[in-house]
Amino acid sequence: MRIAIIGGGISGLVSAYNLSPGHNVTIYEKSDEIGGLLTSYHREQYSIEKFYHHFFSRDIMFLNLLEELGLSKDILWLKGSTGTYQNGMIYPLTTPFEILRYPLLSIGDKIRLALFMKQVRNVDSSELDLISTEKYLTERVGKNIYRSFFKPLLNSKFGKNADSISAAWVVSRVAIRSDRGITGERLGYLNNGFSGFISAISEKIRNSGGIIHTKSPVVMVRNEGDFWYVNDEPFDYVISTIAPVLLKKCGINIPDLPYQGAACVTLGLKRSITNGIYWINLYDKAPYGAVIEHTCFAPLEWYGEHIMYLASYYSEEPASDIKDQMISDFCIKFSVKPDEILWSEIAIEPFAGPLYKSGYKNLMKSVLVPGLVLAGMFSEENYPERSIEGSVRAGKRAAMEILDTIREREVRQ
Ligand SMILES: Cc1cc2nc3c(=O)[nH]c(=O)nc-3n(C[C@H](O)[C@H](O)[C@H](O)COP(=O)(O)OP(=O)(O)OC[C@H]3O[C@@H](n4cnc5c(N)ncnc54)[C@H](O)[C@@H]3O)c2cc1C
Repeated sequence: MRIAIIGGGISGLVSAYNLSPGHNVTIYEKSDEIGGLLTSYHREQYSIEKFYHHFFSRDIMFLNLLEELGLSKDILWLKGSTGTYQNGMIYPLTTPFEILRYPLLSIGDKIRLALFMKQVRNVDSSELDLISTEKYLTERVGKNIYRSFFKPLLNSKFGKNADSISAAWVVSRVAIRSDRGITGERLGYLNNGFSGFISAISEKIRNSGGIIHTKSPVVMVRNEGDFWYVNDEPFDYVISTIAPVLLKKCGINIPDLPYQGAACVTLGLKRSITNGIYWINLYDKAPYGAVIEHTCFAPLEWYGEHIMYLASYYSEEPASDIKDQMISDFCIKFSVKPDEILWSEIAIEPFAGPLYKSGYKNLMKSVLVPGLVLAGMFSEENYPERSIEGSVRAGKRAAMEILDTIREREVRQ
């Protein structure tokens, strides 16, 4: 059978990996390299992801996939430390002692917050789709914790959409991030980054006869009788891993799902900036929501220089000088001299993830096109938070759906 896959991110690659032995699979990827949000900058001595990434101990299907690809030996379980930047100061918030010392919440609020974080891990997040985070959190932890702790985090992740985000998102987020001990959160990373994983899976696809077209945007998808046409090429089946709004532009009549973009600056630095903390959320106003010092997580010796991400999400077009704005604000806030920056890059992706507003779950179910299989970040496996694991699951489910249909057809004939 001839199968087209739209999008060469992890979801499309996983679909192709499962279908290419036995079928003629073609991936169409619009950019000049595969990997989607998991692509990397290739520096002389190393590769580094354009958007910061790690995985979690509960990412079972991703971990199984790494094993199948012979990459289990490359898995590293590292400690992720966190903190906040508030009123011009860095506050470490990883160990119980640091949390106790944190001056901006009372002891009572800290206890209430700790109890909430523990209880919420067992809540079924999908039942909370229609409740706003504000209502859910103020009822459980009170207005003060909501305003001083959660609201700045929601603002930095969702900007002006923060108030409309569903409680389902916040609850699932707490659950995902609950693998933590007294020295930090346990997070997975790969020896020398994710680019080895992208190379390994694409090599398997090519070795099984799969075709990967880069610089090949899909502009038209249509159905005629038993065939699907993708850019005028005929196929028996099509998997789409792109945002519904993009698929609509290709001629498929589906409702839009809300989404947001991400702009991420990566810096090579002469020195460490965050006092050893991996992830610092900005509570003060800034053109970015977090600073993430990658080399306070992955070993510095892999890179020979300090790597920093400045992370921001947006829902309207970012300013044309967003990179300069982010870097100059960072230099002021963290007392970095311009000559301490060895190099800088910015990655801007308008379709960086769904916006999980209240009501998203029902909206998502309406995005179904008979005969066209949907995977990627906007599919059910990525509700109510998108992740590597969600896109691996979606890619595999899409492939299995097609294999089942092929088998049923064969039985009928
Ligand atoms: C800043 C950031 C940090 C993240 N960190 C983490 C993390 O630490 N852990 C985690 O689990 N997840 C993380 N994620 C989420 C994770 O990156 C995604 O869930 C996952 O990579 C999505 O893969 P995908 O294949 O579904 O989509 P994508 O990677 O978006 O792939 C879709 C592909 O389709 C292509 N495309 C679009 N339109 C067309 C077209 N018309 N024709 C052909 N090709 C097209 C795109 O170029 C892209 O390559 C992060 C995301 C962001 C934005």
